[in-house]
Amino acid sequence: MYLIIGSGLSGIVIAERIANVLKKEVLIIEKRNHIAGNIYDFKDENGIFIHKYGPHAFHTNSKKVWDYLSRFTGWYPYFHKVRAVVDGIEVPLPFNLNSIYKAFPPTLAAKLEAKLIDSFGYNEKIPILKLKEFDDKDLQFLSNYIYEKVFLGYTLKQWGLSPEKLYSSVTARVPVYISRDDRYFQDKYQGIPENGYTAMVENIRDNPLIKIELNTDYKDIKNKLKFEKLIYTGCIDEFFDFKFGELCYRSLNFKPKTYDVEFFQSLAQMNYPENHDYTRVTEYKYFLNTQASATTVSFEYPQKYETGKNDPYYPIPNDDNNNMYIKYKEEAEKLDDVIFVGRLAEYKYYNMDQIIARALEVFETVF
Ligand code: UDP
Repeated sequence: MYLIIGSGLSGIVIAERIANVLKKEVLIIEKRNHIAGNIYDFKDENGIFIHKYGPHAFHTNSKKVWDYLSRFTGWYPYFHKVRAVVDGIEVPLPFNLNSIYKAFPPTLAAKLEAKLIDSFGYNEKIPILKLKEFDDKDLQFLSNYIYEKVFLGYTLKQWGLSPEKLYSSVTARVPVYISRDDRYFQDKYQGIPENGYTAMVENIRDNPLIKIELNTDYKDIKNKLKFEKLIYTGCIDEFFDFKFGELCYRSLNFKPKTYDVEFFQSLAQMNYPENHDYTRVTEYKYFLNTQASATTVSFEYPQKYETGKNDPYYPIPNDDNNNMYIKYKEEAEKLDDVIFVGRLAEYKYYNMDQIIARALEVFETVF
């Protein structure tokens, strides 16, 4: 018997491989009352799919990952677009050449555009912390502007830390982009599962060899369980009873609201680096282009994760946290029959496609 803790993407993909390839039984233990982890979505009374745990736009450059998922879902061809409200003006994100023309008068914008293209080349992506180091008066002005207006406030709200207190890879996820391409991602494959993420996950688990027990906390039953191999996708510190201390994760609180208007905002995701306690507002009908006379949005409020009180969403990537994680990882490596996979178990800021790639790799190498 293979035992999997957690029915998010990593757990469900490994379950699918064990059932369909090895033809062995799998039991998945899930604490929540639904499957699919944080990509869970559901249809509201207006027929709009709501992403309960925040906006998820699928994107990947991996043909292997795309082909794998395409066995379980068709795709609505959606390309994510995001804008940030800066000084009351909506600017495209990642901050790009169009954003420069939105933010500055035309002569200054043209000068900054030329400087960027001369210094880095067209179609290049420059992380903000790199751009800030560049020794040029005009680009210093630009990078300070972007840093102050787009990154600092948002990052302080999102993580409770400034960009410098996090690994630079965090803010490098949204680099300054020397381009006119307003899409949030440039990956080759992009889309939203046409019947929602939950339906896709249900299709992945669709094998009688896979059993799922919902509303079941692994902690409460762990002494009774027998297994050949355990795949654990929860928080790694909890697995080891916090013996090296509590790892910091970041949590979110969503306040959904339905409005009796066709559209609340002009695109799926609007970011608010300044002025509000929420970081972003997501309008869900855009993801599948759902036609409805009403609309549902959710306001996203970051918060501290507290075990048992709210849900962990993100590891907080920096040295202090990683050093503690390494201690847990060393403990994990001593256990031959337990495999730790996923954002929470590997303390890694994986995207959805990276999770699939990781789960497939684990299956190919360990089983
Ligand atoms: N970020 C920011 N301002 C924005 C968007 C992103 O400062 O308007 C920074 C922030 O630190 C954020 C990180 O870039 O946590 C990564 O953003 P992404 O959109 O990838 O976050 P996710 O969708 O994973 O929450």
